[in-house]
Amino acid sequence: LIGDLLANELRFECLECGKCCNSEIIVSYLDIRKLMLDSNLIFKIQRNFIPRLIKGNLVYTTNSILGLSTKRPCAFLKDGKCLVQENKPLICKTYPFSIKPKNMQTTNQIKIIKEEILYKDEIFNLVQIDIKCPGVGKGPIVDLNELFTFCYHEYKNMQETYHF
Ligand code: SF4
Ligand code: SF4
Repeated sequence: LIGDLLANELRFECLECGKCCNSEIIVSYLDIRKLMLDSNLIFKIQRNFIPRLIKGNLVYTTNSILGLSTKRPCAFLKDGKCLVQENKPLICKTYPFSIKPKNMQTTNQIKIIKEEILYKDEIFNLVQIDIKCPGVGKGPIVDLNELFTFCYHEYKNMQETYHF
């Protein structure tokens, strides 16, 4: 389906170091709807739902939807564990990987895993968005086709929410 992605070997295992939960993260509308499936959260989110200005854009984050002005750590992190494991945002599930449209500017913090993948008439790079995540290179081999498909789902949800 996605060409020769499987030719590469990538290993990953989350070591639960908690580093990526040390800050709030931006969420899509689908992420918010999923979080609201939790009966403890639905009213909190309905009462407090506000966006946050980040780099000139108004976005919703795991903390802002709870009405919190603090950005660190993610409000769903408790005693080193994620409180919303079942319904956590898609980016938390794909982290530290993501896909970026080929022409989107990226920073030095991003490592390209596979370049120029044509998928549904768009060209993407599969990237590692956190080059310091200690889980990369550990654990089982990642199925790159599955990872890409999952990352694509996350990308589309963000795009539909923020129209970038
Ligand atoms: S930084 Fe990497 S290893 Fe650490 S919790 Fe996040 S995904 Fe897991
Ligand atoms: S929702 Fe859970 S996994 Fe995602 S950043 Fe917050 S605590 Fe971490």
